[in-house]
Amino acid sequence: MLDIDRSAPVMVTGATGYVAGWIVKALLDAGLTVHAPVRDPAKTEKTAHLTALAEAAPGDIRFFKADLLDPGSYGEAMQGCSVVFHTASPFTINVQDPQRDLIDPAVKGTRNVLQDVNRTESVRRVALTSSCAAIYTDAADCANAPGGTLTEEVWNTTASLDYQPYSYSKTLAEKEAWTIAEQQDRWDLVVINPSLVLGPAINDLPTSESFRILKMLGDGTMKAGAPRLGIGVVDVRDLAEAHLAAAFSPKVEGRHIVSGPGTNTFEIAQLLQDKFGATYPLPKRALPKWLFWLLAPTAGVDRKFVARNANIAWRADNTKGRRALGLSYRPLKETVEDMFAQMAERGAFTKT
Ligand code: NAP
Repeated sequence: MLDIDRSAPVMVTGATGYVAGWIVKALLDAGLTVHAPVRDPAKTEKTAHLTALAEAAPGDIRFFKADLLDPGSYGEAMQGCSVVFHTASPFTINVQDPQRDLIDPAVKGTRNVLQDVNRTESVRRVALTSSCAAIYTDAADCANAPGGTLTEEVWNTTASLDYQPYSYSKTLAEKEAWTIAEQQDRWDLVVINPSLVLGPAINDLPTSESFRILKMLGDGTMKAGAPRLGIGVVDVRDLAEAHLAAAFSPKVEGRHIVSGPGTNTFEIAQLLQDKFGATYPLPKRALPKWLFWLLAPTAGVDRKFVARNANIAWRADNTKGRRALGLSYRPLKETVEDMFAQMAERGAFTKT
């Protein structure tokens, strides 16, 4: 159990999101006052679940208006806060204009939030939700990392505006954060680099890209076979604990890979068979790499992505995160079963 000073409020950007929802819950359960700057506080359908969480917890929540692209807009929400959790950043793969839709909100947003931190004397620490996407783009990058394993020393050098721009946005945003943090010494930056986040949503209308794989497994899109795309996965509830440890442990520093062991998309389908195989059209076979490569253009998938991810093991060293943040990871089967059950209950597998 962390020893948390509950007297000062803390600020969470992107509180309406999937990952941040669980962070806010953990903070409220710990008795903290959460300042939540959101794009439109009047849209109560996006914040009602947070208000309900606060009503049931010892902590409290206050909403403010701010936008990543609006310089100075986080200043009011940050007043008096000791810690800033910066999670807001678009996590979406299908974008029309990667610069406008991904890079600008990620990079300018990080700059704007941290410039407000520079102007707010009370802030002592920023816990930044970066990503393993700032470390690698494709599973093939693992083999090229020193020792064949991703570590906190590795930076993504393979994403670009034209290839996997989300990963590029996270890489540029984290670099921007380190540049700004290193120019001062009042506050310190602690970075969390999660792999793919799965597990149940706390928000009613999740838009995070996290829901795509299970949706395609449950709605029959992959009925004929699921590719073995090498990935890492972390449970969203474990990730919230990681954020609290990053914010309140005195001795933490630098980046932290936060992920369970490597897995792949077909293995996730197999883990779901016991509970859901009789009711949902889950894939029973792995899709051979050559066939996936052949079919890729019709499925809107880049063949380069197939070549660099299918049948390739994902390897990352999570030792630093486990030790420094005191983490232990729940079994992947529990994570995906809980998530799939909630999605099924919400009717997510009905084809539109
Ligand atoms: P999410 O549910 O889509 O949440 C994104 C949040 O960012 C939302 O609260 C969204 O606000 C906010 N946001 C987007 N553009 C904004 C803007 N211009 N101004 C203000 N707020 C804006 O995605 P998520 O999966 O929780 O991701 C949260 C963070 O975790 C991101 O930094 C993401 O890169 C990181 N991450 C996620 C994963 C994963 O697998 N999910 C893995 C690694 C890292 P609205 O509600 O107003 O849209």
